[in-house]
Amino acid sequence: MEKKAQLYEGKAKKVFATEDPSLVIVSYKDDATALDGLKKGTIAGKGVINNKMSNYLCRLLEKHGVPTHFVKELNDRETLVKKVSIVPLEVIVRNISAGSFAKRYGVSEGIVFEEPTIEFSYKNDELHDPLINSSHALALSLATKAEIEKIKEYAFRVNDVLKEYFLSIGVKLVDFKLEFGRLADGTVILADEISPDTCRFWDAETNEKLDKDRFRRDMGGVEDAYNEMMKRVFGN
Ligand code: ADP
Ligand code: UDP
Repeated sequence: MEKKAQLYEGKAKKVFATEDPSLVIVSYKDDATALDGLKKGTIAGKGVINNKMSNYLCRLLEKHGVPTHFVKELNDRETLVKKVSIVPLEVIVRNISAGSFAKRYGVSEGIVFEEPTIEFSYKNDELHDPLINSSHALALSLATKAEIEKIKEYAFRVNDVLKEYFLSIGVKLVDFKLEFGRLADGTVILADEISPDTCRFWDAETNEKLDKDRFRRDMGGVEDAYNEMMKRVFGN
């Protein structure tokens, strides 16, 4: 399948049309942004790692009954996926307090929750992706009631599957962001990516950060962290 016109260039990926209108090719870049786009940089090799890890996790989730956009990995950085119309909600699931949760509620990072939490942000760059609740999402017609229920169900299933998987490779899944989309027939499936850009990963023994927080917080060792996650998932 060949790339045709570029449909979109985002902060971390480009999206290309193909000869099949129901399929697009996503191309993963090494570009990184943080702090609402204020901080820009490059993480060498990130595009390859995010592409491969995301595809691996999509296959795993499919096996556990979560439909995803994944079709075929084309090369190190490019993957053929089902084209969706993205539901403009960032779906965030948390197992342990960190990031904006810790800041908003004035608590420390590292509190292990009894039950996972879920929240939505309205995916809207101009408004800086504000936190939104389901009733407001409904009022704005961002999704239907049935879609929101389905999205919540899938998001918690993703958490169950990934939490167990990552623990098996010595990693705590602290929190993560998902995006869902609609196929032409209205079916809701998991889209976008699951990677160290979109998840918080802490080493199970030492709590060392193995994700984009190292870039966001200028901690150094950014590439090493992404490479370590790649090694844990795929071996050497
Ligand atoms: P951003 O738009 O936030 O800068 P990216 O650089 O990751 O993010 O760009 C990828 C874009 O492609 C995102 O807007 C994402 O919502 C969208 N996208 C992800 N998966 C699909 C898909 N299967 N079909 C269509 N669009 C998708
Ligand atoms: N996240 C993301 N994209 C965003 C915002 C958050 O992928 O635009 C992910 C982030 O990597 C983390 C989780 O969602 O795994 C929760 O992020 P949080 O709300 O704590 O925001 P942050 O501290 O990154 O501002």
